[in-house]
Amino acid sequence: MRTIFHVDMDAFFASVEVLCNPKLRGKPVIVSGSPETRSVVSSATYEARKFGIRSGMSAVEARMRCPQAIFVEGNPKKYLYYSMRIQEILFRFSPQMEPFSIDEAFLEVAPCWHQAGRVESLAFQIKQTIKEELFLTASVGAAANKMMAKIGSKMNKPDGVTVIRPEQTQKVLWSLPVEKIWGVGEKTSKALNDLGVVTVQDLAQIPVEWLIRVFGKNGEALRWLAQGIDPTPVKYFDEEEPPKSLGHDITLEKDSGDEQVLLQTLCYLADKVASRLRREQYKAGQLTLKIKYSNFRLRTSQMPLLNYSNYDTDFFGIAQTLWKKMLPLERGVRMLGLSASKLLPIEIANAQQTFFDAEEKKVVGLCQAIDRIRHRFGQTAIARGRCIE
Ligand SMILES: [Mg+2]
Repeated sequence: MRTIFHVDMDAFFASVEVLCNPKLRGKPVIVSGSPETRSVVSSATYEARKFGIRSGMSAVEARMRCPQAIFVEGNPKKYLYYSMRIQEILFRFSPQMEPFSIDEAFLEVAPCWHQAGRVESLAFQIKQTIKEELFLTASVGAAANKMMAKIGSKMNKPDGVTVIRPEQTQKVLWSLPVEKIWGVGEKTSKALNDLGVVTVQDLAQIPVEWLIRVFGKNGEALRWLAQGIDPTPVKYFDEEEPPKSLGHDITLEKDSGDEQVLLQTLCYLADKVASRLRREQYKAGQLTLKIKYSNFRLRTSQMPLLNYSNYDTDFFGIAQTLWKKMLPLERGVRMLGLSASKLLPIEIANAQQTFFDAEEKKVVGLCQAIDRIRHRFGQTAIARGRCIE
């Protein structure tokens, strides 16, 4: 279970303005565009918010609601400077940091839910360090994924800490209105509300086929988010799309029709593809076997997996079945290839799996041990019996 923090600065622009001009302290301060234009409120101190002033409101309306408010013209350079300093502080806690906007960032640390009080104390330390060094307050949310951490940081604003433990995810999430789900904008939430879907719990209980019919591709994502599952990684730079498939080919030293040699090669390929998937945190729903004959004729055969997998044994089993479908061989084989497709991030694949019992946990443990050894000694350090016989 991942440990992720969302750090959200409180009334950021307005707080920076107060910091730079102590005379503003304790007063209703509104940061907006130039007073000559019809500008909107971009940030307001909590003293101003008491009058119902919100960002996005027109400056004219804000002035009507709070005539004594002090308007300050926004100064992006100042905010950027403080934003960089906040990032620098967050980097000290973990190199896995993602600025999400000028005043928000995600931070992922090594999983530590099992250590009593550890997540809470880290959240307080983050907030405390920002306060001590920059004299600014932040609200911090901690959870097992980005969406839940972001929901958490809003729950005790300003200057608050909210920890949503993994086992509380569903309880917290399901009581919220659907628009709190990531990616549910005004249009989607209205469409849902019209259909009687008001809370996240309502959404979670809708059949996925129905969501896909109404919202297309997003329907699937909505379903996972409503379950509190969000596998998106915390990355400083934008990541590319997940790959469509991952595979390996081996061209034999010389063309061969020897079943023993070919099956050993297949076993090696199964290990290699599976360990690569594990390293990149995917499971596959389909395997494809490729055979290139000595005359360069290519034959392929593919098969779906019953359960999403990234285990050597599953892959070798399927590869053997695919192999048998190719028999008898037309002639000598020049190249063998195995590729995994229908890839899903592990977290989603596991949620989709019909069972994840103790038996499977044992396999996971075994595979992780194998990966650790490979990582230290290289790919050929460990191969199951068959490959080295
Ligand atoms: Mg903020």
